[in-house]
Amino acid sequence: MISSTALTDECRIRALELGFDLCGFTSIEVKLWRDYYLKWIADRQHGTMSWMERNNDRRLDPAKILPEAKSIVVVGMNYYQPDPDRRGKIAKYALGKDYHKIMYKRLKRLCTWMQEQGGVQKPYIDTGPLLEKPMAASAGLGWIGKSTLLLHRKHGTFLFLGVIVTTLEFDADSKEDDHCGTCTRCLDVCPTDAFPAPYQLHASRCISYLTIEHHGAIPHEFREAIGDRLYGCDDCLDVCPWNRWAQTTRETRFHFTGLPDLREMLDWNENDFKDRFQGTAIARLKLPRWKRNICVVLGNIGTADDIAVLEKQLQASDAMVAEHAQWAIERIQIRSRVENEKG
Ligand code: SF4
Ligand code: SF4
Repeated sequence: MISSTALTDECRIRALELGFDLCGFTSIEVKLWRDYYLKWIADRQHGTMSWMERNNDRRLDPAKILPEAKSIVVVGMNYYQPDPDRRGKIAKYALGKDYHKIMYKRLKRLCTWMQEQGGVQKPYIDTGPLLEKPMAASAGLGWIGKSTLLLHRKHGTFLFLGVIVTTLEFDADSKEDDHCGTCTRCLDVCPTDAFPAPYQLHASRCISYLTIEHHGAIPHEFREAIGDRLYGCDDCLDVCPWNRWAQTTRETRFHFTGLPDLREMLDWNENDFKDRFQGTAIARLKLPRWKRNICVVLGNIGTADDIAVLEKQLQASDAMVAEHAQWAIERIQIRSRVENEKG
């Protein structure tokens, strides 16, 4: 019978051959920040992401996912690429094709091999109640930094994660030490003060939450701070010194393939939106929230040339879009008046 060490080595090699950049192992009995997570939920720092309140039995105890499970395999895929030079920033993870299908296919192939070794597996790519980051940290894929993100010494913070819960027994990897040291760059840069303290994130203040997860109007107190961020925010990732060695992802489907200017996209109908974003993370946002975000960005960086297309949105069937367009027009007009007075 093959030893657990040989099985671990073989699995890691296969994961890398399948195109994952990292693969680590931890025991099913992994400790998962139980008290931290339950307090975070109790303090309502998750905003309206109510699914995070459910299935905590399984989320905090992966042994409940699969009877007889012994190990957790965690894989990582680098998604870094430089920001494109355009009006309206998009978080790097959403610049190309959605990672879920791409990674799931590879994960399933790894599961097939594990099945051949006698294992029963459950693969996850963001598809179930799991705490992927603490699992990844336990599996030696990095440490959870003050930004609450997973940091890897080589890949920094730009990693998609996938998890397999399995009945096979693998050798657990050793945990990485925390290398944040005295650095506080991520905490200092946050435009919305979303970090109440190091290692704590108030998600409902985070621009990623506000521009992606949050339905309905963006609260006025955050609109200016959103600046030119159209979808998500990478500020606390971009400043992290551990990202200075990040290399552009070798997965070309993650690469950015271009987008029209904000003015043109604000004029889109449902079909235009679907045609362009099918198979991407942005598709899940739907057109009204996409237009809402464009209005906020134009309110912050737009010029008099953008007013005509914003005015068209005042008649939009969606009241939220119309209200954000009105806000944007007023902001552009105030800016133009101030500039005229100065000039
Ligand atoms: S993603 Fe942006 S808004 Fe969210 S915590 Fe990081 S810097 Fe703050
Ligand atoms: S920016 Fe500094 S403190 Fe924040 S996660 Fe990176 S190393 Fe840690």
